[in-house]
Amino acid sequence: MHELGIAESALQVALTRATAAGATRVLGMVIRVGALSGVDPEALRFAFTAILPGTPAEGATLQIDSVAAVAYCPDCQQDFVPDTNHFFECPTCGRLSASVKQGRELDLVRLEIV
Ligand SMILES: [Zn+2]
Repeated sequence: MHELGIAESALQVALTRATAAGATRVLGMVIRVGALSGVDPEALRFAFTAILPGTPAEGATLQIDSVAAVAYCPDCQQDFVPDTNHFFECPTCGRLSASVKQGRELDLVRLEIV
């Protein structure tokens, strides 16, 4: 379960930022997870509940914002939603596009600290 490692590094980032800001506790985190990031939001949430106790982020709320996958076809000059996570085939012309506009996000986007 690689979500555990991801949760640990996100927590590390959160604690480093909190310390840098002179805060002692993390009350909440918002993490953006793209549909193509390879991260299962539920597994990530579970990983957080396992690692937060005993840290300054114990009891922090965790919000996971899912970002849908959007690919772009340069031939049709249109965005489309790929139907699999591996091949981005334009539904109009069938061209395989490697151009992903969103969906690979994995970011700590907001932090609530005191
Ligand atoms: Zn196309």
